[in-house]
Amino acid sequence: MAKAELMDYAKALEQFEVVIGLEVHVELNTNTKMFCGCANEFGSEPNTNVCPICLGLPGSLPAVNKRAVESAISIGLALGCEIAPTGRFARKNYFYPDLAKNFQTSQYDEPIAFEGTIDIEVPSGNSYAIGIERAHMEEDAGKLTHVGGATGRIHGAEYSLVDYNRAGVPLIEIVTKPVIGAGSEAPELAAAYVRNIREIVKGLGVSDARMERGNVRCDANVSLRLHGAEKLGTRTETKNVNSLRSIERAVRYEIQRQAAILAKGGSITQETRHWHEDKGITSSGRPKSDADDYRYFPEPDLVPVQPSAELIEALRAKLPEKPADRRKRLQAEWAFADLEFRDVVNAGLLDQIEEAVTAGATAQAARKWYTGEIARLANAEDKDISELLVTPAHVAELASLVDAGKINDRLAREVLTYVLAGEGTPAQIVSARGLEVVSDDGALIAAIDAALASQPDVLDAIREGRMQAAGAVIGAVMKAMKGSADAARVRELLIAKANA
Ligand SMILES: [Zn+2]
Repeated sequence: MAKAELMDYAKALEQFEVVIGLEVHVELNTNTKMFCGCANEFGSEPNTNVCPICLGLPGSLPAVNKRAVESAISIGLALGCEIAPTGRFARKNYFYPDLAKNFQTSQYDEPIAFEGTIDIEVPSGNSYAIGIERAHMEEDAGKLTHVGGATGRIHGAEYSLVDYNRAGVPLIEIVTKPVIGAGSEAPELAAAYVRNIREIVKGLGVSDARMERGNVRCDANVSLRLHGAEKLGTRTETKNVNSLRSIERAVRYEIQRQAAILAKGGSITQETRHWHEDKGITSSGRPKSDADDYRYFPEPDLVPVQPSAELIEALRAKLPEKPADRRKRLQAEWAFADLEFRDVVNAGLLDQIEEAVTAGATAQAARKWYTGEIARLANAEDKDISELLVTPAHVAELASLVDAGKINDRLAREVLTYVLAGEGTPAQIVSARGLEVVSDDGALIAAIDAALASQPDVLDAIREGRMQAAGAVIGAVMKAMKGSADAARVRELLIAKANA
């Protein structure tokens, strides 16, 4: 695919107004699927969590998962939505092998939640109110694996495998109204919005909210129009972007790509697009008209969902604190300066640091490791920190090993690389690899003597009070012991030797 022409970002913003719209799918973590009793479980053997209902066999009858409805209501309430006193499911008819029924059971004109609003803060500190059009319940499709092609897509594949374990897993689709007015911050706003949705569903406990597993997926609509124009421009929909960083990059890319086309007098094709993480580009998917006709009709096999006012109020009373309130509380508890805290929020590290603190780390130690070495390692591997094998418990353990003087910072960084390689917890690695700081006097004195042999004047210098001379010996000892010497103890022993 040819690389599209892009307009300089600042220039694109000068000429055009950006309008985005976000559709987020949240996979619920209910024990069972949306309409049957099959386990809702990630990572099972293919086609083991299936039954006549989620396979769409003739004569099977679905039933609604109560817990999924409650989760949907909680999400709607957290987004400031109205909850429909009655709502029906609808069949969205289409043929694709990942849904054996040939229709998806969804909601159409009667979503369970609608008309909400949520305030989202972006890295600059600016805040935007995002309107929520609707949040509705539906079921996920199965997973297709296209084998034999170069791209993993269906084109060029020799054959395809289908796994129906995910078919029928409960989903909540949350759709925003068009978001206008974010200007150059539209990409950051898109990512911050999805981060907030993640925080909300995680806080509610209704989803595992792991983007790398597809628990939270975002379709990003982007269109441009001339400043002052009333009519919205033609939009593209970049599908299934599955990390916050990718969302930001994909929206930015679409702004620059569309601006280049429009500036030349071209027109935007209304279509779905795919995001390519490796190349940092989107590519054309399939045309998508507003009039895609799925022949929606009310699902005849399910009764309408009619949550009682008591249920809605009980769920409202159980809502966790809002993400903005939680951020205020955490900043106060951790005593972070504004800038420190903003860095942590923008890096999406609140959960990790909170969990590391719960596991026993100090907030500052957790911040130091996450924003420093762990962020660097994630960057080097081009991954989100949440995708790395290091857990908050590991970080707490690492910090406690440093605090106890068992390892120093340099060894701790080395230990981290082994944690990432899956060798175990920091304590296990330190003991398996013998990485403890050497504070055994015998070994240290031997190394000091060896270093002094080539720098005999150092002892005199120390006796004369020129302490900087000690540095050369300490450095030589560290080098000889591959960084595992307890530097403070080396210094003490050296001074004792000079004054003996
Ligand atoms: Zn089933």
